[in-house]
Amino acid sequence: MRDRQELVYKGQDLGAVYHREETVFRVWAPTADQVELCIYPTGADSDMTECVAMKKDVDGTWLYVKKGDCKNLYYTYRFTREGKTEETMDVYAYAAGVNGRRSMVVDLESTNPEGFEKDTYHNPAHTTDMVVYEISVRDFTADSSSGAKAKGVFLGMVEAGTTNETGEKTGIDYLKELGITHVQLMPSYDFGSIDESVSIENQYNWGYDPINYNLPEGSYSTNAFEGNVRIREMKQMVQRFHEEGIGVIMDVVYNHTYSGEDSCLHKTEPYYYHRTDENGFTDGSACGNEIASERPMVRKMIIDSLCHWAKEYHIDGFRFDLMAVLDQETMRQAREALLKIRPDIVLYGEGWNGGSSALPFEERSLKAFMKNVPGVGAFSDDCRDTIRGDVFVGEAAGYISGMPGMEDYVRFVITGATDHELVGDGLYSEGTWANSPEQSVNYVSCHDNYGLWDKLAVSCPDATLAERKAMNRLAAAMVYTIQGMPFMQAGEEMLRSKWDEKTQTFVENSYNAPIEVNSMKWNLLHENSDMVHFYKGLLAFRRDHAGLRMYTAEQVQKNLRFLETHQPNVVSFVIDAAAVGDTAQQIMVVYNPSKEPVQMPLPDDAQWQVCIEGDRAGTDSLREVSGQIEVGGISAMVLIQQK
Ligand code: CA
Repeated sequence: MRDRQELVYKGQDLGAVYHREETVFRVWAPTADQVELCIYPTGADSDMTECVAMKKDVDGTWLYVKKGDCKNLYYTYRFTREGKTEETMDVYAYAAGVNGRRSMVVDLESTNPEGFEKDTYHNPAHTTDMVVYEISVRDFTADSSSGAKAKGVFLGMVEAGTTNETGEKTGIDYLKELGITHVQLMPSYDFGSIDESVSIENQYNWGYDPINYNLPEGSYSTNAFEGNVRIREMKQMVQRFHEEGIGVIMDVVYNHTYSGEDSCLHKTEPYYYHRTDENGFTDGSACGNEIASERPMVRKMIIDSLCHWAKEYHIDGFRFDLMAVLDQETMRQAREALLKIRPDIVLYGEGWNGGSSALPFEERSLKAFMKNVPGVGAFSDDCRDTIRGDVFVGEAAGYISGMPGMEDYVRFVITGATDHELVGDGLYSEGTWANSPEQSVNYVSCHDNYGLWDKLAVSCPDATLAERKAMNRLAAAMVYTIQGMPFMQAGEEMLRSKWDEKTQTFVENSYNAPIEVNSMKWNLLHENSDMVHFYKGLLAFRRDHAGLRMYTAEQVQKNLRFLETHQPNVVSFVIDAAAVGDTAQQIMVVYNPSKEPVQMPLPDDAQWQVCIEGDRAGTDSLREVSGQIEVGGISAMVLIQQK
């Protein structure tokens, strides 16, 4: 037999391809001695009605054509090797029954909500025009304060007309008002850590544990048992977001599977889909195993999966979990394939791995190698930790909370990690790593570790509430005035906290903490309306000013210059905004993390309009100044010079 590494199947018909007259089942399992197709009437708790031998076909695949209309039939494969038989779901399943254990033959067209083919949403021209809001489907509406009827599921995400207890808009209506451009959904493919067959009330998991890569999670649907329902409801959600002008990005976890041994990948073709060494599965994900993306049929599986979501669900972009576990060539080829479906596709990920990976260092999609993967962005931990302090040391302060000597690192993040004559190393980076600001995902909060507000509580126990709010505002003002793609965890703007009443602690890693810890508390919109208002103003200002959204390194080099501040810790810069089509001539930004106010001379003998100052932010001028200005303690100031 030929080495299975050489047996590469290039066709686009792996899985169960449905036609009304017949369904074609094809599975790649080059080392199997025998493969059988097993048919079931339901996704669980029913006896097999048929079991047929599949025929060995080309390039390591096995084939069976089942005559008749097989719509909604459930199926598994049985692989026999050296007398041992394993039954499992289809690696290429596009639908499944409860808990994903049996695949389902699906007529995908019949799952489209009405008008889905007319969905024509496009991403903005550049990722720097986007504002990404990261949210778990469950967290968004699980709490009663969301006002949603369909709590914790796809349909709840897009319920219109919902309010909190004080009458403020919640849900999708609120997102429109806030001014974000995209939601990034935490794992929404079928994951394994929630039992979909029982009430999920006392279960919780973020879902970074894939079992079926190509179909939605059942617990996010109103019926996890009927294979079509989760598909239709996820499509409905995407359609509604698009109708409101909001894009949808999926968090994809192609770096590991829920279990190594028990995964359908391993049972279908053992020791092919995961990396191994003499001790068994290697663990670049720190979740027990890692996917061998560099192998041809694994790379194909990943690319086919991405294309499926983009084509079938109209997903607008992907966020790659532990992207450095994937090799750069896979990322380049994935982008190439996706661009054919969506020329405006958005791709970015975590440019690091979780544990010790078997993939050679230089092949990893690390942040440091992003210049080799054009068009793919990476989360800037330089930005996150420069601004708020070390993510792994709760008590560690950052620029906003009084850590001195950070000016060079702040300048590094201001240019979006791109080359600039006045920029050297980042906090964690030797030299710049982005070809353009489009590759730098700038943030100070995400689902991992403490959210910004909790981080401030833990790292600044002696600060007053007013001081911590000022620090939060400075952090936000920085994220929305530096170059790159801004990103935030849902609720950052309402001072969301993951406080556990039972343990009286902030939960740092809430992946399986109770829903009460994880859910969005929508009454915070009222309690912290001043902060929400400030964020809305920041987003509106950014939206109005192309100078903050430059998309090439050359634009930044040419049009952004740093000002001498003559004061420690204060950083200031001016952008020749008109040069990139801004309505303003120039934009001036000052960050002052010290408690004392500072005086800053204004460049040029001109009138400047203050738009962001203290706790106020927006597109309107707050006052007109010239000569010199005073910038308050722990605050940002942003001014524009009119044309
Ligand atoms: Ca599941």
